[in-house]
Amino acid sequence: MSTAQDPAFHLFPNLPTELRLLIWRFCLPNRVIELDHPHPDPIFDFKRPAPCTLAKTTVLNNRPPLIAGVCHEARTVASESSLSINLSTQPDSSCNESHPSTGQGHDINGEAEEDIPIHLNPHHDVVHLHHEPVYESDQSAGNPLRHIISIATQTTPNQASLSLGLLLVGRTQDWPQLPFLLSQRPWWLVVIHVVPIHMSLHAGSLTGLFGLLGDAPVQIVDLRDKHRLGAYYDLAAVTQHRRGDGELTVEDEKLVMMVDVETKRCRSESAVRWIYKLAAEPAPAMYPAIMFRLCPEECDRLGE
Ligand SMILES: [Zn+2]
Repeated sequence: MSTAQDPAFHLFPNLPTELRLLIWRFCLPNRVIELDHPHPDPIFDFKRPAPCTLAKTTVLNNRPPLIAGVCHEARTVASESSLSINLSTQPDSSCNESHPSTGQGHDINGEAEEDIPIHLNPHHDVVHLHHEPVYESDQSAGNPLRHIISIATQTTPNQASLSLGLLLVGRTQDWPQLPFLLSQRPWWLVVIHVVPIHMSLHAGSLTGLFGLLGDAPVQIVDLRDKHRLGAYYDLAAVTQHRRGDGELTVEDEKLVMMVDVETKRCRSESAVRWIYKLAAEPAPAMYPAIMFRLCPEECDRLGE
């Protein structure tokens, strides 16, 4: 039995198997699965230096759930709850022509993307497409949207999100398929802003904002969910204040982080109106959202 001195619960192995499995399943993360690699330049409006490289968070987010390293039983639960999605072998074969990527053709470790499987828990996870088209060599395909629609419908939450950059390209480039593809879903979340939160993984896990065990480092919050949004912005502002030079208060830090949100929300609405002004299809509902990323690196201090 656990005590104040020894919080470990030593009787766990004596629980019925069904109960242990339920507990392991409860510990699985609810993740935002990124179907491509984010690039800091378009996400941070080409700000120099970028507030975050984004790469470490993506790596952490692609790791097996934390419980997979506990014991054989937990590892089995984790593997049974995961589908391995290879970007080059999607059920929609048309995706093979132009799978979503940064256009680099390689992941952040320099390995071919086709060799990197994405682990998706179809019961818990949601999917996101960064797909900043400025990095795409082939604008005509439109297949990244078919790709995310196909995967989202295979998940229980059936939630799909995309980045504002994808909508903005619809205003400036010839992408005639865009309204039709977007209309294949009744609604989307549109990530209009990305907020990195720099702190250790342990500290992040204690906040409870990145999964029960801290192994869900990417979170997307609907702008309408004021309570949840406030919790993430409060954490981001407090963290930034601690790491800053003390010139700004926590409230100031929060205001700085949120200064662009309304502008970007308007840009998103305007882009959707433009995309559908001549379209036969009705526009799907587009709900603005913010992406928060737990990053344990010191990437925001490069160059200091
Ligand atoms: Zn970072």
